[in-house]
Amino acid sequence: MKAISVEPKKQGTARLIDIPEPGVNEGSVLVQAIAVGVCGTDVEIVGGKYGWAPPGQQRLILGHESLGRVIDPGPSSGLKKGDLVVGIVRRPDPVPCPNCAVGEWDMCRNGLYTERGIKEIHGFMSEYWRIEPEYAVKVDPSLGILGVLLEPSSVVAKALEQVDLIGRRSFWEPKTVLITGAGPVGLLAALFAKLYGLEVHVLDRMEGGPKADLVRDLGATYHSGSVMNLDFEPDAIIECTGVGQVIAECIQKIGANGIVCLAGIGHGGATISSNIADVAASAVLRNNVIVGSVNANKRHWYRASQNLARADRAWLAKLITRIEKPENFMNALKRRPDDVKVVIQFSEI
Ligand SMILES: [Zn+2]
Repeated sequence: MKAISVEPKKQGTARLIDIPEPGVNEGSVLVQAIAVGVCGTDVEIVGGKYGWAPPGQQRLILGHESLGRVIDPGPSSGLKKGDLVVGIVRRPDPVPCPNCAVGEWDMCRNGLYTERGIKEIHGFMSEYWRIEPEYAVKVDPSLGILGVLLEPSSVVAKALEQVDLIGRRSFWEPKTVLITGAGPVGLLAALFAKLYGLEVHVLDRMEGGPKADLVRDLGATYHSGSVMNLDFEPDAIIECTGVGQVIAECIQKIGANGIVCLAGIGHGGATISSNIADVAASAVLRNNVIVGSVNANKRHWYRASQNLARADRAWLAKLITRIEKPENFMNALKRRPDDVKVVIQFSEI
């Protein structure tokens, strides 16, 4: 079968290669790949900056945003042939740490977790893949190819859950949420926050264009420019840009008792002049919480699949702005200005 694989930490090694179909040791459920979404992590792995091959192997099969069709459900999965499934990405560490021991692999304490398509387990960019039944999440069949949005949705479901859990430390009746960054995670966060009944604002660099239209189509408000220019103080902010300046402004702009959830990962960039003690003082005086959120556990995957099933299909469809064939995977990894989510399609839905 065909698979897209890479020698991690070596630039220029990504190839579409022929490999044997996966063995039962990789999971009792056999799945035919339909589509795999690409994101910044894939770009980093292909760029030689990130990623680990399985122990004893040189190459890693890429892909962590999966969607496939069950070909053989195996003896005890509760799945049926033809079911649409998505594979959970992270696996608990082998020790395990206390959080992995209770199924919270997203909160792993020792960093020894593994991740499909990223860290020591093959990903989903192959014509067929196998999975353990407990890590296969069934998606609403009416979603079709839109089920490929479940992995980024799980990350969003966790971030919003964290904000809600933290909010409940005091009387918590949030009305407004600001989302910074109108990429796939930001737009899915806007969608979920709308489903949860919040007044949603999305801020991005671009003054207009398809992302602004997507925000407005959702019944949310689109802003461009600086967070500091907003004429309200959000109850919660989901920060998806990872840009230092934007993060600093979010921390200054958040309302009293408000929560800033950092969900974007950036590197370096502009040095900001805010004095740490001043930032802390403002957080102290207004009971603010700044929290990081990464990955997702089964509870978040389940919530995300429920939310996607409730979402407007036509709106979700506009998030997938480009579909590439496996042989053109390098095109899929090159960002274009109006891209939201680019997917590689392996078989017809
Ligand atoms: Zn752990």
